[in-house]
Amino acid sequence: MTDQPPVRSTTPRQARPAGAPADTAVRETKPKDTGIRQVRPKTEGWQQAKDESGRPLLQFASPKRGKPPVHLADMTAAERVEKVKELGLPGFRAKQLEKHYFTHYTSDAADMTDLPASGREELVAGMLPPLLTEVRRLETDRGDTIKFLWKLHDGALVESVLMRYPGRITLCVSSQAGCGMNCPFCATGQAGLTRNMSAAEIVEQIVRANALIAAGGLGGKKRDDHSLDRVSNIVFMGMGEPLANYARVMQAVRVMVDKEHGLGMSARGITVSTVGLVPAIKKLADEDIPVTFALSLHAPDDGLRDELIPVNSRWKVDEALDAARAYFDKTGRRVSIEYALIKDMNDHAWRADLLADKLNARGRGWVHVNPIPLNPTPGSIWTASEVPVQNEFVRRLNDAGIPTTLRDTRGKEIDGACGQLVATEEDEVAAAATPVS
Ligand code: SF4
Repeated sequence: MTDQPPVRSTTPRQARPAGAPADTAVRETKPKDTGIRQVRPKTEGWQQAKDESGRPLLQFASPKRGKPPVHLADMTAAERVEKVKELGLPGFRAKQLEKHYFTHYTSDAADMTDLPASGREELVAGMLPPLLTEVRRLETDRGDTIKFLWKLHDGALVESVLMRYPGRITLCVSSQAGCGMNCPFCATGQAGLTRNMSAAEIVEQIVRANALIAAGGLGGKKRDDHSLDRVSNIVFMGMGEPLANYARVMQAVRVMVDKEHGLGMSARGITVSTVGLVPAIKKLADEDIPVTFALSLHAPDDGLRDELIPVNSRWKVDEALDAARAYFDKTGRRVSIEYALIKDMNDHAWRADLLADKLNARGRGWVHVNPIPLNPTPGSIWTASEVPVQNEFVRRLNDAGIPTTLRDTRGKEIDGACGQLVATEEDEVAAAATPVS
C-alpha cells in the first residue's frame, strides 16, 4: 500500500487568548499518492471480536462476576471507623489498621501486637481480607525490574511491573482484569474484559511492591541514590483502560495521595493514561487531584487511528486532544502524549508534522510527546521503527516546538511493556496450581 499524507493547512495560526476555544482546524484534505509505504493495522494470530456492524467490539461495562471482598482501601476514613465499630471495637482501631497497612505494608494479624489479642483475627479478616495471591515473579535488568503475576479472589489474573530507576521507583499497575478496548496490537485486549478491579485490588499492588522493596527485594540501590525505599511513581499502564473503571480508579488514587489515611504519595508521581475516553477525561480534570494525564494517541489522523485504537470510532483525535488540552487548562499539569512508533504504520514524517500541527493549534507549553519504540519483532507488522526514522520523528516534533523524548521501554524483555500485559499459557498453568490465599 502507499502512504496517504493529508495536505497540511498552511494558514498561520495566532496565539490563543485564554479561555477561547482552541483553533483546531488542521485540515486533513484529500491526500496525494506519494508512494510512501503504509502498513495497516490488523491482528496477528487472533480474531478481534466484532459488533453487529462489523466494527471492533468495545466493552465498557464490566461483566457481572462475584465482587472482591470489601477492604479498608475501598472505604473512606469515616467508613473505616464505622466498620471497625460494627466489628465490635472502638473506632480509633481503624487508624491503627491504616498504619499497619499503609506504613508497614502488612495485613498479618500476628504483626499487629498493638491490637487487643481478643478479636484481633476477626478485625483483620474483616478489614484487610486477602486480595492478591502471587502466582509468578519474573526479574530482569539485574533485579531492577520485576513483573508480578497476581491471581484475584475469583481466579482472574492481572500483572504489575516494578522498576527501579535512579532517584525513583515506578510501579506499572493494572486497573482491570483484561480490557474491553480491543486494540489490535495489544495482547491484553485479545481476551476482552474479564472485570473491573476494586480500588483495594489496585492499591494492594502498591502495598505488596512496597513490602518487597522494604525487604530489600528490588535490585541494587546505588550509593548516591537518596530516593525513599518505596514506590514513588505509579503509571496506570498495566492491564485495562483505567478511565473505563473510573470510580474505583479514583478511589485508589485518593488512597494513594492521602497523607493521613493512605499512602501519602505525590499526585504528580501518578500517571493516569487513557486511549481517549473523552467524557471521563473531562471528569478527571474536574477532580481536585492533579495527577499526570497521558493520552495514548499513537496516530494523529482518524484514518489510521480508527483502526489502531477502536475507541476512536467514538471519540475522534481532535476531540481527544481538545479534552487533553482542557485537562491542562484546568489543572496546569502538562499532558503527555504516548505514541508507540510502529514501522511503516504510524512513524511517517508527515504524521510527526501533522501531530505537531494539531498540538500547536491548541497552544504552546501544554504538552509533551513520548514516542515509545516498539520491540523489534521480525516477520510481524507490529515491529519497531528503524532508528533513523524514530530520530526523524522526534526531531520534527522538537523542531516544531513540541518537547519530545523517546521513552525508556524497560520491562519489555519480560513482556511487561504497555499493551503486552497478558497471561501466557505458562502463567495460566502456574495460576491453576496456586490456591487463592
Ligand atoms: S492497548 Fe490499552 S486500551 Fe488498548 S486493549 Fe490494550 S490495555 Fe486495553
